Formats: sequence, C-alpha cells, structure tokens
Amino acid sequence: MNSGKSLKEFQEKLTTSRRIVALVGAGLSVSSGLPTFRGSQGLWKNFNMIDLATPDAFYIDPGLVWQFYSWRRYNALQARPNKGHVALAKLSELDGIEYITISQNVDGLQRRAGHNKDNLYEIHGSIFELRCTSFMCNFVAKDNFKHPLTPALQGTEQEYDVKSRKRSLHEEDASISPQFKPIKELSEEELPQCPVCKDGSLLRPGVVWFGEPLPLGPIDQVDNFIEDEDVDLVLVIGTSGTVYPANSYVDRIRAKGGSVAVFNTDIDQEILDGKVSKTWGFKGDAAVLLPLTLKPLIGEL
Ligand SMILES: [Zn+2]
Repeated sequence: MNSGKSLKEFQEKLTTSRRIVALVGAGLSVSSGLPTFRGSQGLWKNFNMIDLATPDAFYIDPGLVWQFYSWRRYNALQARPNKGHVALAKLSELDGIEYITISQNVDGLQRRAGHNKDNLYEIHGSIFELRCTSFMCNFVAKDNFKHPLTPALQGTEQEYDVKSRKRSLHEEDASISPQFKPIKELSEEELPQCPVCKDGSLLRPGVVWFGEPLPLGPIDQVDNFIEDEDVDLVLVIGTSGTVYPANSYVDRIRAKGGSVAVFNTDIDQEILDGKVSKTWGFKGDAAVLLPLTLKPLIGEL
C-alpha cells in the first residue's frame, strides 16, 4: 500500500468516474487458494500445464486432458470467492456508473461472487462451461458445477495417493515423498458426451486453449465499450497486464486520457513512486486492497 495521499487522490478519481473497467488476472484468485497457472506451480503430475491446455493435447489424449480439467474444476469448487471478487461484484451492480469486468480467469469465482452476468467478460472462457467438439453442433452448457462429470472421472482429481501408513516415530518416514496417483486410461465413452449429438461427440472444457483465438463476441463487446466513449478509470488487478489483449486495453484507455490503478503483489517501482502520470499502484493482496480502496463506491463489505 502506498501513501495516504495517493489513496485520497485515487478515491477522488474513483468517485468522479462515470465509466470504469476492471481487468482481472490470476492474482485475484490466489487468496482464494488457487495457484497461478505459471511459475513454480505450473506442473500437474509432472506434466507442464501449458502442454495440457492445447487442442493438440486434447486430440491426442482427451482422457488425460479431462483428468487435468477435472482436477482444476475440483480445486475451483473447493475454493471460495474472496472479498476482492465480492468488491467487483458490488461495482457491477451500481447505478450511476457504466462498468465492465474483463476477467482472464477461468475459475468461475467472479460469477460465484454474484457478479452481474451482463457486464462480466470472461475472455478466456470458464472451466465450468462445456462445449461440443463437433463442428456441426454448437451445444454449450454454462455454469455446470457437477463433479465428477462422469463416473470414470471420480477420484482422478486427486493428485496424490493417500497411503495409510503406520504412524512412526522415525523421522525418515515423514520425509517420504507422496506418490502421484496414476493417470487412468479413459476411453472416449467414459468422458463427457454431448447430449444433443447422436454420434456421441465429446464435450470439451469451454476455455481458450493456447493457440486458439479469443471468443469474438465478448472481445467485440469489450472493444465497443472501450471505443464508444472514453473510459475514466481502469483497475488492473492481479495481473501484470503484459499479455495481449490485456496490455492493449490498458494502453488504449491510457492513450485516451484514462487513469490507471494497479493492484498486485508485484508493481513497478516507478508506479509506486508516483512517477507515472495518472497511475496509482496498490501493492499487496487484491482481496484486501479492493474492499478498502473501493469503499467510497461500494460501502463496507
Ligand atoms: Zn454436439
């Protein structure tokens, strides 16, 4: 958190802004207990997560990829929306401002926090959306929170075998590393199937995989919101904002005179020092900072 002066300045801007955008990344879900995709937590059972989140991986071994997503769905269902998610949900329901949240997260926590669905754009999709893989079919199921999705996926979300070991006083026993649960070989019949297609087409997670385009509809709507009229303020939350298209949103809003407020555990020193014009930095946990800084608009949570 930086000085009280800049908090006051930020809140003056906040309360006089008519059009506000929040751009949200994985950092917001960290305090709900969900790891970020990259970094040291980027492995699942010795697979690089980035290798599993591709159309090729699904084509080669849909059973493996579904077990990975079953694990992610399970973890997200165990997690709860935090006060940062709730703060944005409050913003989304306010009268008197025009507001959108652009979320790069697929964990569904922002929806579960009660965010208005009309101004929430999940530009990377959601692990709780299911889509048919057939080109001939456009079946989509949103907000499917069932777990496990099929009987064969039961238990596959457990990362490690929990072996019942006798309690021992010997220290070396405590250091035995846990064994990964083996990955099951699952046939396509055992995986989620489209309820509409007669030929048993597979369903896939409704997320944007590496190498896939972003969904045109939401991207168009976000573009329109940013281009139609000037945005007064963009809140950049739990994301470095350096990946396309997130970086372009911030750049475009700034270029048209909008102000920027960054909420992250890692912020450029120049921003923290107040050397970047019309930009505030609030360093720390967004789940703590958002309720505090947005209080003049959303009240006490
Ligand atoms: Zn289908």
